[in-house]
Amino acid sequence: MSDTTIFIPKDSRDSVQLNEDGWITHPRGETIEVYGPAKGHAIGCVHAYEPSEIDQRIEQLAQGYQTWRFTRLTDRARLLHRWADILEKHITPLAQLLMLEIAKNRQDASDEIQRSVDFIHYTAEEGLRLSGEALYGDAFPGHARNKVSLVGRVPLGVVLAIPPFNYPINLAITKIAPALMGGNAVILKPPTQGALSGLNIVHLAYEAGIPFNVLAAITGSSRNIGDYLVSHPYVKMVNFTGSTPTGQHIAQITTMMPLLLELGGKDAALVLSDADMTLARDQIVSGAFSYSGQRCTAVKRVLAVDELASSLGLAIAEKVRTLTVGLPEDNCMITPLISQQSADFVWELIQEALEQGAVALTPVHRKDNLIFPVVLDYVTPSMRIAWEEPFGPVLPIIRIQDEAEGISLANASEYGLQAAIFTQDISKAFDLAEHLDVGTVQINGKTSRGPDHFPFVGTKSSGLGAQGVRYSILAMTRLKSTVVNLGHV
Ligand code: NAP
Repeated sequence: MSDTTIFIPKDSRDSVQLNEDGWITHPRGETIEVYGPAKGHAIGCVHAYEPSEIDQRIEQLAQGYQTWRFTRLTDRARLLHRWADILEKHITPLAQLLMLEIAKNRQDASDEIQRSVDFIHYTAEEGLRLSGEALYGDAFPGHARNKVSLVGRVPLGVVLAIPPFNYPINLAITKIAPALMGGNAVILKPPTQGALSGLNIVHLAYEAGIPFNVLAAITGSSRNIGDYLVSHPYVKMVNFTGSTPTGQHIAQITTMMPLLLELGGKDAALVLSDADMTLARDQIVSGAFSYSGQRCTAVKRVLAVDELASSLGLAIAEKVRTLTVGLPEDNCMITPLISQQSADFVWELIQEALEQGAVALTPVHRKDNLIFPVVLDYVTPSMRIAWEEPFGPVLPIIRIQDEAEGISLANASEYGLQAAIFTQDISKAFDLAEHLDVGTVQINGKTSRGPDHFPFVGTKSSGLGAQGVRYSILAMTRLKSTVVNLGHV
């Protein structure tokens, strides 16, 4: 395999091949198209799995799991390290694929893959170091020290990993690697836009030696196979990242099954009167507009105290006017949104806010699914854009009287992913952080995920459970207690 193109042989089970026009796939049977947001047309297609094929494939995994769960930790770690090394050699073509498939710019696409490589290495190391404990019985009356519980962790079985379109490689790998290290078999159901990337990383895992009956990519439209996969009797856990309605739907149709859900967000940046304005401006612009705002932890609203809101708004707008807009291969920060439908939704939120009195501090302009970055001042809580997640390049500024109003508005959201506080008073920052109902508070920094060994948690409609290397391994394994009754042997 060369390091400038990715080539999967035509006779492989889920084959994908790149030519000069883009990605062409050679899947068998029924297919679904993968749309290229920057091209405006389909760039390839992938196999659409039928339920009977899903059954067959999952049965293979259920069998493979019985061997994998007893495979030595060091051997699992070695295979993961090898996978990471192979992925690293393919950063250039994989980044090219992300540019085509999801219109992520060249640098961000490369960063996503490098981060995934680092994640796998760290996971392999962390998995080796997880240990159990021994508990003695004499802490409770009537029991003696000769009753000992050996507490360890065991895998769950077949884990279903479902990432969203915006990080189809990273959010697949942050599920697959800890699940495998924990001894599980894994089905990757890639997002349809991101399916080519998903197939490729799984193929590279096979090349590293990760067994075919331990990891599978099952492609197809979620409309047709989503519910079938999620409620399949062999699936013992779902690890999902995506929108809140889909996460809620998955929670409704599954019973007695552990779920990890990373869902939507409406992260607020609270800017107080003593904030370092340059820092706040730079962090907010980067946090709000990277990958055109299509990030769960994007800054999705600014809550600025009235006395500095005007100057902050103008400073943000000035910086936003310098953002590059265009194609992913030109490394532009603002690129076409994932679909026309997404662009229509963002546009509708902007237009509605303008009609209701919001003031645009930047030009409001759209070309098909490319929306130029917009900063809206004088947004009020009665506007939809104050509460809904646009997933696009628009930043509402809401003026507040004081911190108390800021905390109240921040917490009134249905979401609780992250929040940022900009102030030079560190004691005040800690105090406010205590009152924010979110998984993570960033003090003097933009909202964002990572470093990836930090816990990543969402409250309310933003999710369930914790991710982060160690936390993900723990979440995808369970405790098992073996009690030795020493007096009886
Ligand atoms: P989405 O529409 O919910 O889709 C996410 C994934 O779920 C895709 O792979 C999709 O497959 C699949 N899916 C949809 N319906 C399903 C079902 N019934 N059963 C099983 N799988 C199903 O979300 P998206 O538009 O891709 O992603 C954007 C959302 O993700 C935003 O709300 C964002 O905030 C959130 N997100 C959250 C985090 C976080 O860590 N909290 C990170 C990134 C993104 P198809 O593509 O085939 O439909």
